[in-house]
Amino acid sequence: MPLDQYKRKRDFSKTPEPAGDPKAAGTGRFVVQRHRATRLHYDFRLEIDGVLASWAIPKGPTLDPGVRRMAVHVEDHPIEYFDFEGVIPKGQYGAGDVIVWDWGRFVPEAPTLDPRAAIEDGELKFELHGEKLHGRFTIVRTSRRPGSAPTAAFEDESEQWLLIKKRDDVAVTGWDAEGHPQSVKTG
Ligand code: MN
Repeated sequence: MPLDQYKRKRDFSKTPEPAGDPKAAGTGRFVVQRHRATRLHYDFRLEIDGVLASWAIPKGPTLDPGVRRMAVHVEDHPIEYFDFEGVIPKGQYGAGDVIVWDWGRFVPEAPTLDPRAAIEDGELKFELHGEKLHGRFTIVRTSRRPGSAPTAAFEDESEQWLLIKKRDDVAVTGWDAEGHPQSVKTG
């Protein structure tokens, strides 16, 4: 089941995070959550077939096409995580505060493409229509090896990917996620 790993890591009697409704379904939204855990990172999630395919990006997404951002593929999250903001208690997996940093729609570059199959094949090209993130991106798998020092916070995860902004008319050289820290949900 897609959410088994997500559920195994969490005690839903202690964390305010959603437990996941297996009946939920949908495709086409994206969300980025800024998560101040032991190590600050941004969780990038694509809604595909009723769950959120997820990557942890230590430095966050960027609009700068000259910069590649390392992304660690993590377990699918339940669809109810889409607008989750809150504090994951000390001692729970991912303890720290979470805000909705950006959200909107994602559109696979090829309209007939199955995004889940593309992720399994290790490369997905898409367009984002968010409040902060816009334009064309590629996310591509570079390694299946266990995380090394830069990804120590995610050492149980095994796939390293890169999120890359493609050159287009909404690309911005030098754009950095930390320069745009507000929640798009609560300000
Ligand atoms: Mn996280």
